[in-house]
Amino acid sequence: MGEKKGVWAFSENMELLKELLACGSPLAAKLDTELSAVLLGGDMKEKANELIKHGADRVLIVDNPNLRAFHIETCLAALTKLAKEKNPQIILIGATKNGKDLASRLATRLQTGCTPDCSQLFVDEEGWLTTKRIVFSGNAIVTASYLKTPQIATIPSRTFEKLEPHERTGNAEKISMSLEEPKVKIMKIEKMEATDVKIEDAKIVICGGRGVEKKEDFSFFKELARTLQGQIGNTRPLAEDRKWFSSWVGLSGKKIKPALYIGCGISGMIQHVAGMRDSQVVVAINKDPEAAIFEVADYILVGDLYEILPAIVQELKKTLN
Ligand SMILES: Cc1cc2nc3c(=O)[nH]c(=O)nc-3n(C[C@H](O)[C@H](O)[C@H](O)COP(=O)(O)OP(=O)(O)OC[C@H]3O[C@@H](n4cnc5c(N)ncnc54)[C@H](O)[C@@H]3O)c2cc1C
Repeated sequence: MGEKKGVWAFSENMELLKELLACGSPLAAKLDTELSAVLLGGDMKEKANELIKHGADRVLIVDNPNLRAFHIETCLAALTKLAKEKNPQIILIGATKNGKDLASRLATRLQTGCTPDCSQLFVDEEGWLTTKRIVFSGNAIVTASYLKTPQIATIPSRTFEKLEPHERTGNAEKISMSLEEPKVKIMKIEKMEATDVKIEDAKIVICGGRGVEKKEDFSFFKELARTLQGQIGNTRPLAEDRKWFSSWVGLSGKKIKPALYIGCGISGMIQHVAGMRDSQVVVAINKDPEAAIFEVADYILVGDLYEILPAIVQELKKTLN
């Protein structure tokens, strides 16, 4: 593996970058090497301190005005130059839309391999990175290793829990680099209006499936969500086929990890379960006693959701009032 040294983590999303540090920490420990976070942009001192608290031994800060906004070609040029100069062994990249784009192009520039959307990563006895990822709609797991370094992997958000922050010492290294101006000019970035807490951040999620007959019947869900201060979720067919919602929970949708998940009229197909299996407590309501969702549930309610949901709301209101 030559003189390659160090595990790097990069994401343009700060929270995901902290998750990557949690992923990279045991890899760096096993390789007896440093864990570095890479920051691209301008004034980054505060961010660097935060990343050190979250596990980075070193923060590499590329300071260049052309990196203030995410432009794929400038970020790619910066990471390529930096990797060629410093020779990291492993580069972990957040699997955002930008991150996936970046990782595959970086692998091409560095003439190495990239494994996308990894859910487990470890170092084998010979020091090579090994990754696992779910494929074929959740029906198979691919285990892959590398033949060349740097070994690049992308990791989706919420795959790893951030480490608890604590005061640590670490180095922030500022690197000056000349970079060409981006070829695309960003005219405006407008924040979308978001009224609710994001479902990925919700502590309680009440999820509906095809067992719900009409969109209006989500009024039961809304009432329960209001009572428990939770968020409403749904399976993919309610979004894709019935067009009631624009997103869904599952392998191809949002991954959630609430303290409480209540699934109503959901069969529990693997593609849905892949997005909610990390919920702490799972309650499932289904009229089919053989429903697969019961296999991952802590509490099973066999029956009609149209009877059970209003009864739960009524009882909760009595208890909470
Ligand atoms: C490539 C691919 C990716 C996919 N990704 C996702 C994904 O990310 N997320 C996702 O959700 N799906 C995904 N799917 C779809 C997935 O395979 C299932 O089809 C889907 O999850 C099923 O949704 P459901 O449970 O709502 O519906 P169904 O499977 O039809 O289940 C409905 C359930 O409701 C119960 N029921 C009916 N009436 C009542 C009632 N009155 N009271 C109580 N229970 C009742 C039934 O017994 C049944 O178990 C994907 C599929 C593919 C091919």
